Amino acid sequence: VFTAEYFTMTEADAVEYAKTRLGIFDQSAELTCKEIGDGNLNFVFKVVDELSGKSVIIKQAGPVARISDEFKLSPDRNRIESEILDLQYKLAPGFVPVMYGYDPIMNCCVMEDLSDHEIMRTALLKYKKFPLFADHITTYMVNTLLLTTDVVMEHKEKKELVKRFINPELCEITEDLVYTEPFFDCERNDIFPATRAFVVENIWSDKELLLETAKLKQEFMTNAQSLLHGDLHTGSVFIKEDSTKIIDPEFAFYGPAGYDVGNVIANLTFALVNAKFTMEDGDARDEQVEYLQNTILDIIDLFKVKFIKVWEEKATERTAGYEGFKEHYLANVLKDTSAVAGLELCRRIIGIAHVKDITTIKDGKKRAAAEKVCLTVGKRFIMERDSLMEGADFARIIKETV
Ligand code: ADP
Ligand code: MG
Ligand code: MG
Ligand code: MG
Repeated sequence: VFTAEYFTMTEADAVEYAKTRLGIFDQSAELTCKEIGDGNLNFVFKVVDELSGKSVIIKQAGPVARISDEFKLSPDRNRIESEILDLQYKLAPGFVPVMYGYDPIMNCCVMEDLSDHEIMRTALLKYKKFPLFADHITTYMVNTLLLTTDVVMEHKEKKELVKRFINPELCEITEDLVYTEPFFDCERNDIFPATRAFVVENIWSDKELLLETAKLKQEFMTNAQSLLHGDLHTGSVFIKEDSTKIIDPEFAFYGPAGYDVGNVIANLTFALVNAKFTMEDGDARDEQVEYLQNTILDIIDLFKVKFIKVWEEKATERTAGYEGFKEHYLANVLKDTSAVAGLELCRRIIGIAHVKDITTIKDGKKRAAAEKVCLTVGKRFIMERDSLMEGADFARIIKETV
């Protein structure tokens, strides 16, 4: 059944697939399966041997996005995901799931089951704290981003990677959903009614802001700087107290390094705004908000320190050693970080794809207030990006607005 051509699997098919195609389970295994996907694009099957407890995850790319069949996507994104996970397993050991295999006919990959971890967005909505996250995510980002640049890699090898991960369809989703549609009255936008007037007045009517989004969109499309994850929000992070694993890199391509860092910052900001607007007044709320603000601050500052250290140890490009160059390069990454954090804060409020941190705020007045905060912080991150060079600068803007 699995040799002829691609079809989208049911749970029963996934059991059959695991039994006949994987060589991971014993002949005597009693396999059960559940489809546990909650993302916008793919099917995720968890197959368990009820006898031994052994389990694997099979992720299959469907021919259209689950969010809307308007998005027709080549299932080749599953190749990108499995190849990137293999590569990142070497660049950032310990921070991605183990890949067991990729099947180019069924467009699925088989990977380590991380069910002992929790999706970070879900955990933060329960007001959990993860003191090691800033350290882990900055190691992951510096290793995956800086080690794939022309500063470190041999240039012809880097260009081979650019080709292998060209990913035009998923890039187009980002170009449309992050950089374009949220900044005009696009039909596909999905705006909470009480927020609309604020968007019309403060986003769509602000010509200076629109000009910056045009510049940033070109930067996203033309700056083949680093091999990005491309979708690094808190729903792509599996976490527990002492471990952080990054999943779902199907949007990977060569783009500006700050794209990934900015996404992390924005999504922690959503969690912070959620805590602020859903917890009762008191110490627990103050602690959660402060924890998230400090995490944002630490991520920027640790990223900088590790970036400089890895640059000094690993740069091979001759001009990388010229005085002042690494500071110039890092400052540009930080500007992109701030700008992308701002774009993400705006697009998750205005555009088609929202985040639970905001949509689960039940009280309509509070939700509208929370959304205005996200848009205001977002706009400042974009407009003031030239001067946000330290963790404390990011934390200050959040503190002044939230
Ligand atoms: P999508 O690309 O559709 O967003 P994800 O890779 O984000 O798919 O996976 C969707 C969900 O499936 C995750 O939120 C998680 O609950 C579950 N999942 C994905 N990968 C694993 C894994 N390796 N181990 C356990 N659960 C997983
Ligand atoms: Mg996902
Ligand atoms: Mg270029
Ligand atoms: Mg995905």
